[in-house]
Amino acid sequence: MLRSISDLDDIQYYGKKVLVRVDFNITINNGAVTEDYRIRSAIPTIEYLVKRGAKVILASHLGRPKFRDHNNTLAPVAIRLKEILNRNVDFIDDCIGPEVQAKIDKLNYGSILLLENLRYYPEEQNNDPEFSKSISSLADVYVNDAFSTSHRKHASTYGAVKNFEIRLSGFSLKKEIEYISMIRYNPKKPFTLVIGGSKIKDKIGALENLLPKADKLLIGGAVAYTFLKAKGFKIGNSLFDEEHYEWVKKALSLYGEKILLPVDHIVSSEENSFSTITGDIPDGMSGFDIGNETSMMFSSEIGGNGFGTIFWNGPMGMFEVSQFSAGTISVAKSMALAFWRGATTLVGGGDSIAALKKSGVSENEVTHLSTGGGATLRFLAGDKMPGIDALERAN
Ligand code: ADP
Ligand code: MG
Repeated sequence: MLRSISDLDDIQYYGKKVLVRVDFNITINNGAVTEDYRIRSAIPTIEYLVKRGAKVILASHLGRPKFRDHNNTLAPVAIRLKEILNRNVDFIDDCIGPEVQAKIDKLNYGSILLLENLRYYPEEQNNDPEFSKSISSLADVYVNDAFSTSHRKHASTYGAVKNFEIRLSGFSLKKEIEYISMIRYNPKKPFTLVIGGSKIKDKIGALENLLPKADKLLIGGAVAYTFLKAKGFKIGNSLFDEEHYEWVKKALSLYGEKILLPVDHIVSSEENSFSTITGDIPDGMSGFDIGNETSMMFSSEIGGNGFGTIFWNGPMGMFEVSQFSAGTISVAKSMALAFWRGATTLVGGGDSIAALKKSGVSENEVTHLSTGGGATLRFLAGDKMPGIDALERAN
């Protein structure tokens, strides 16, 4: 068990500088925040610390800046956080150094400061020891509330953490671990897996751990075509993953009877036209979504799960394009139906969360919406999570 912020006596927060690693890596369009689920996920931790009189210092990365470019400033996030909390949030345009130190020293007890993008320094991703020291010199207590970056060995998630005597988990991180551990070790049966998206490689580790426990695995998205080819279907010009073809064949031979593949497809050739095809996909055509019959089959599997567990990662098609979004929308809606009927449902992955939104499914119609994509899959694969390993354990 991790030691969490509620395991420390309240008095220990009063007037203390608490650095909270959050994941505010969200989409910003023309300087405005579009989707703020990750910001809202951090509210319980932020407010817990504010109420106890801590100086709350928030640190995050945003995007993949090569240098200090204004497209990757966290300034709009400070504005959004201010709106959400209805209280003042300070922002400073750097994340280390004497000016940041001075600003923190002047903060009132119970106030909030958001630091500028950690990745403005390449040292962050290189886990540089000096940079780590500069981060850890900012505060007395470290809190990790960013599950979605905990698979990374970066300065703010790993290098700096070991310099703190007190290293706690925030509420969001704790909740993520609870739900994802449940999926990994103890899913309530029947256990249905729904996997889509584009890269088989990202999903292999998780599938190897989960397939033995799963009752059904529904596969859509681009990953489905490699499975279909292995079963002898023609897949035309659809995405095919040569590198993991052998793994796919092995998975089919071991778990074939649990695996449900698409029976029809929305296909397109070069000329922007699209149509439905059942069975083999001819040369010159590529599959971009599951077809209607497959949607109905997947929906009845998901909606018919009963009181078990469903984990969904990866859209069923190229849902960003409206002609290829129907399959994903139908899966999202049946996830909501399964939830209302009593199943425990988990959705992970940035694109999958965007797909839920697009489908009009509310966050309250899912048992747990994981902020992590990569991190969730790594955790399910049993990989090391440096950001979690660096935290204190409670006895
Ligand atoms: P998540 O972010 O939820 O983990 P992934 O990143 O694994 O999901 O996959 C999402 C991407 O997969 C989307 O950009 C989507 O367009 C793409 N995709 C899904 N199906 C297909 C397909 N049939 N052909 C091409 N791209 C696809
Ligand atoms: Mg993605």
